[in-house]
Amino acid sequence: MRAIRVERLGPPDVMQLQDTPVPSPAPGEVRVRVEAVGINFADALAVAGEYLTRTRVPYTPGMEFAGIVDALGEGVQGVQVGTRVAALGGSGAMAEYATVPAAGLIPVPQTLSGAQAAAFPVSYFTAYHGLKTLGRGEAGEWVLVQAAAGALGTASIQLAKALGMNVIALASTDEKLEIARTLGADVTILQDDPDRVKKVRDAAGGKGVPLILEVVGGKRFQESLDMAASRGRIIVIGNASREQANLRPVELMKRNLTVTGLWLTSLMSDVPATAEAARVLAELVGSGKVIPQVGPTYALDQSVQAFEDLLNRRTTGKVIIEP
Ligand code: NDP
Repeated sequence: MRAIRVERLGPPDVMQLQDTPVPSPAPGEVRVRVEAVGINFADALAVAGEYLTRTRVPYTPGMEFAGIVDALGEGVQGVQVGTRVAALGGSGAMAEYATVPAAGLIPVPQTLSGAQAAAFPVSYFTAYHGLKTLGRGEAGEWVLVQAAAGALGTASIQLAKALGMNVIALASTDEKLEIARTLGADVTILQDDPDRVKKVRDAAGGKGVPLILEVVGGKRFQESLDMAASRGRIIVIGNASREQANLRPVELMKRNLTVTGLWLTSLMSDVPATAEAARVLAELVGSGKVIPQVGPTYALDQSVQAFEDLLNRRTTGKVIIEP
């Protein structure tokens, strides 16, 4: 089969398309014929060797995908060959076939396309945990969504609106802000607007924003502190700027701010939190209130281009690769 292989870490062009054997499912695993791979910022960081965990080479990237169950490993029960599933694993999805522990399968409404199903797990579970599990957002509260037209941003806007929250969206271009508005953002502000801090604070009633999903990091992290309301909760989800941020704890004291880190990988082992997120998301996606946002779609041999477009802010929604 065709698969992307990474033999040394670096920029996207270290990825190579190679012929590799079709994997056999180990006991407890299923093999999936991959229809679509969701490409995350984390995939690009992992290939660069800049992710939260160490990337071991050689490997095939791709942590999130959807496809048709093709074979079952020994002992797997309750999974039907021929059904469409989404899956979240560590790596291995940028290929025509991938194996994943049956426990890592995520049931999806069969009405979703392969690309929509692949756009679902990472962004929507992360958005839910940011808004609710850790963010404790309530209906009627304001939430600030950065990189609002991106994969996580579009998921966060849709989910926040479906949960009754008010959304302020930040993004780098007018076209991206238009996407945020289409998804229901109440207020949209250019990320580089010189008055952005005041505008954000004013939009949330002049007192700042009670809940911020922080994904940019670097010097923007300081701005998030300035945009937050007293007792504001800042959920640190990403560092798209790839810059270091300075946090002086005394600044948190002055306005009773809370900064909470969020990493989906470690939250997935919190069984009650994952079950609650899955329950709410299944209801919202099943009823069509939340629709996974598919972005640009590439073939496997365009993977380098896909990663470069994502890193260079040229994409909106979830970047998809269809093997
Ligand atoms: P996106 O689709 O959101 O793409 C990244 C976006 O980040 C860009 O489009 C851009 O939007 C924005 N951005 C801001 N500053 C920069 C910069 N200096 N360079 C590049 N992009 C920048 O990607 P994802 O949805 O995959 O991820 C968004 C963020 O959330 C990432 O930081 C990612 O690591 C994180 N994340 C973390 C998870 C976790 O478990 N902690 C899970 C999922 C995502 P704009 O042009 O509008 O500024």
